[in-house]
Amino acid sequence: MSVARMLTGDRPTGRLHLGHYVGSIANRVRLHQRYESFFIIADLHMLTTRNRREDIDQVSGNAREMVTDILAAGVDPARATFYLQSAIPEVGDLNTLLQNLVTVPRLERVPSLKDMARDAGKEEMPYGLLGYPVLQAADILCVKGEVVPVGRDNAAHVEVTREIARRFNHLYGPVFTVAELIQADTPSLVGTDGAAKMSKSRGNTIALSDDPATVRRKVLGMYTDPNRVRADVPGKVEGNPVFAYHEVFNPDRDEVADLAGRYRAGRVGDVEVKERLVVALERFLAPIRERRAAIEADRGLVDRLIVEGTERTREEVRRTLIEVRRAMGLTGA
Ligand code: ATP
Ligand code: MG
Repeated sequence: MSVARMLTGDRPTGRLHLGHYVGSIANRVRLHQRYESFFIIADLHMLTTRNRREDIDQVSGNAREMVTDILAAGVDPARATFYLQSAIPEVGDLNTLLQNLVTVPRLERVPSLKDMARDAGKEEMPYGLLGYPVLQAADILCVKGEVVPVGRDNAAHVEVTREIARRFNHLYGPVFTVAELIQADTPSLVGTDGAAKMSKSRGNTIALSDDPATVRRKVLGMYTDPNRVRADVPGKVEGNPVFAYHEVFNPDRDEVADLAGRYRAGRVGDVEVKERLVVALERFLAPIRERRAAIEADRGLVDRLIVEGTERTREEVRRTLIEVRRAMGLTGA
């Protein structure tokens, strides 16, 4: 029996943080055991919002860090194929062929694009950004992905892939599987500053690769209940980022309940709650850090995985493209 194929991945914008872990990596670590897994390093997607030369120069370093983080988080390299999107020009060929299977108004209705067009001003919207979901369809369909794990923001993109696959099969014959979405409805992890989302651009992250001293410094500097000026003042647990992290990363439920109870009653200081969080986070991060060190000690391992994974994926994509061209009658004759 063949296992279904999963496509997942990220834009190579830097090291991964706890928000990425909660929002997607944890799910992938679990799912990659069950599916044949392709991990895209989506540098062409990065160009839609970051295309200065300095951004591009950082891609290879960021790609290595990202793959290292994913492996350190628990993905088994024997069960995953990593590939660099821009190193497979046939992805662009497929993108060109798929572009005619979706309308402009349909793309304009994708919620994240609507938001970006509003934030940047519609006049500033690059053509490539509008086409983001089509390129994503090319990513998924070029390896014949059958399942795609999605967070909240991404489900609407994969819907476009499904429509394009159906449209293609309808016009040219059954070439593509209509990919299934695996919904992970995890809420965003708040930043250390209490902002709605942990995000590199806000500088409110704890990286999976941060050392113990950095983690401790960041946790001790975290926002708590702003109205609480002293330890004997009753505090708010709801909306308090320190407790939000306890909820997610502290497996000792009794300790969390005890801290929350005493916090509400004004019988525990912020520092103690934070020190307990440091301990919990260390328990979570120490094994990730150890695996990271082992991966880094194995010189060339990550580069090799990316090069070999890209070669292997390129073969797959070439095969897909031959099939696509045949189905469309683009035989070059
Ligand atoms: P950052 O936002 O830190 O600059 P990025 O822009 O490289 O990182 P995003 O595109 O924001 O990355 O996120 C990639 C994926 O990681 C998202 O689809 C989302 O699922 C997940 N993610 C990122 N930040 C968070 C968060 N704070 N909480 C939950 N999930 C997150
Ligand atoms: Mg972001």
